[in-house]
Amino acid sequence: MSYGIRKDFYNSKSWKIVRKNVWIKQNLLCNRCHKPVYVDGLSEWIPKEKRRIGIVHHKEHLNDSNIYNDNVTLNENNLEGLCKECHESEHHQDVSVRKDYMFDENGNLVAKT
Ligand SMILES: [Zn+2]
Ligand SMILES: [Zn+2]
Repeated sequence: MSYGIRKDFYNSKSWKIVRKNVWIKQNLLCNRCHKPVYVDGLSEWIPKEKRRIGIVHHKEHLNDSNIYNDNVTLNENNLEGLCKECHESEHHQDVSVRKDYMFDENGNLVAKT
């Protein structure tokens, strides 16, 4: 998978709209720890030093074969708004379950070589 494709996707208008909808639906709260997250244009009231980065996670991870499938990339049932900490532990969990797997620089789970 080329990094360019993913970057294009995350910069796309449709992703930004879907992403925003996920956060509005979750009341700008992390789906795991329920702490408020900072979302561009939606939570300017949060003081800068208290801003917690929010990441919309794809339950089915994106890869070469599903990156063009709107049913995966833009399907709200496949999306979960998480704070940075919970997002990291979500991915960390995957790794600890399968020690023979790791994440590459694009965040994809790949077999360790
Ligand atoms: Zn959280
Ligand atoms: Zn993720």
